[in-house]
Amino acid sequence: MIKKILIANRGEIAVRIIRACAEMGIRSVAIYSEADRFSLHVKKADEAYCIGSEELAGYLNPHRIVNQAVETGCDAIHPGYGFLSENPELARICVQRGIRFIGPDAAIIHAMGDKTEARRAMIAAGVPVTPGSDGNVTDLNMALLEADRVGYPIMLKATSGGGGRGIRRCDNAAELRQNYQRVISEATKAFGSAEVFLEKCIINPRHIEVQILADRHGNVAHLFERDCSIQRRNQKLIEIAPSPQLSNTQRTYIGELAVRAAKAVGYENAGTVEFLLTDTGEFYFMEMNTRVQVEHTITEQITGIDIVQEQIRIADGEPLSFTQEEVHPQGFAMQFRINVEDPKNDFLPSFGRLTRYYAPGGPGVRIDTAIYTGYEIPPYYDSMVAKVIVSGRTWTDVINRSRRALNDMVLGGVRTTIPFYQEILNNPEFQAGEFNTGFIPAHPELTNYSRKRSQEENTLAIVAAIAAHVGL
Ligand code: ADP
Ligand code: ADP
Ligand code: MG
Repeated sequence: MIKKILIANRGEIAVRIIRACAEMGIRSVAIYSEADRFSLHVKKADEAYCIGSEELAGYLNPHRIVNQAVETGCDAIHPGYGFLSENPELARICVQRGIRFIGPDAAIIHAMGDKTEARRAMIAAGVPVTPGSDGNVTDLNMALLEADRVGYPIMLKATSGGGGRGIRRCDNAAELRQNYQRVISEATKAFGSAEVFLEKCIINPRHIEVQILADRHGNVAHLFERDCSIQRRNQKLIEIAPSPQLSNTQRTYIGELAVRAAKAVGYENAGTVEFLLTDTGEFYFMEMNTRVQVEHTITEQITGIDIVQEQIRIADGEPLSFTQEEVHPQGFAMQFRINVEDPKNDFLPSFGRLTRYYAPGGPGVRIDTAIYTGYEIPPYYDSMVAKVIVSGRTWTDVINRSRRALNDMVLGGVRTTIPFYQEILNNPEFQAGEFNTGFIPAHPELTNYSRKRSQEENTLAIVAAIAAHVGL
């Protein structure tokens, strides 16, 4: 039985995992860099150990982390998302040292982390993939030939990419020539691999992904889908479960397809199968993420299943605590990634001291975060500092509740993406539940709100000042 877990992460996801441990009676061990000494995960864990003065090196050192787990008597490691969560080395070292890795085995992480290998596995399993190159393209000439075969526009992608980086659209050969070296150097810098491949660029697709849970006993279940089409620069900002854009037939189809994909690769633990849905209703496999995802929360809200606890039980060798037939999603849930970025200034990062923090509450509101009043948000990590998760019975309920919750939230001393989300919530197309990954670029007016709003506010302020002056 797992009794003590080391959490190889920081921020809100570390706090999320600590909460799961606390509810299961499992001791939690945090690790932290010097820059994170005052972070919430350090305060909330049962034990906490500094793993180095450097901001990133400690969180990225699998040997050091597993040593720490062994020394402190842990029997498992939860990697969270980002950092080493999709690093097969960490999973491999864990096995060697007798520590359970809360995730799939190293071979699967390795295979699915390579997008071309994942595509091959899916083709073999009869899962439709986006048309694209057969494996990696190894030089510019090959890229040009493959692009001609696939047809422009194409997406040039880093084979081991993630987090929306290392992806460029090329509309013609000239653009492909221009971007080829750029993507290779981006990929090398960000992912330590120069491998790239290309896919047909699907115009204005919907990003639909399916949450999977699989145990060691051959049970694979899906927890329905999430719609992550609201993106900026291929990065998700708002996620919705279930998708308001699918019919029940499509929902059943995609759920079963994801289960087939997971079974085909012998998957274990929590994972996500990502698809693109075209205008004409085709689903294409895009990639598989072999870890807990940032937006796992909304699936928890509609299904009532605690995905992190389920991950821990699976790693402990237990069967899934539910059957597919027992999963009945209820209502809708929507997650907003609260980033410390200034939407009216081209999303310029805005780190620094949080002078004031007030969390919204009330019916249907869940906040996953590691911030608190007085916390100094360090510039070395993700700009996402909180997740606001709103649930309701209907799509309209969720929209209205989201407006209210975001309006209640206060983060003093930094700029956030909240005003941008309020604009999206006011958009009629969004309210009608009709949007694709082109939504944000198609609506430049969404970031003009600050000018509009300050005029309104000015007018109100002037009216108020005059009223006060004349003694009203
Ligand atoms: P999700 O797929 O859960 O929606 P994101 O794509 O937003 O998550 O990524 C979550 C975090 O993990 C981000 O900090 C991102 O930069 C990081 N990340 C994701 N994939 C990789 C990768 N292949 N290499 C390095 N970091 C990654
Ligand atoms: P990451 O590993 O960074 O998450 P993905 O392959 O999942 O990369 O792609 C991230 C996003 O980029 C998708 O959600 C989608 O919006 C866009 N994208 C990726 N591939 C394509 C494609 N072939 N056509 C159109 N959009 C794409
Ligand atoms: Mg992805």
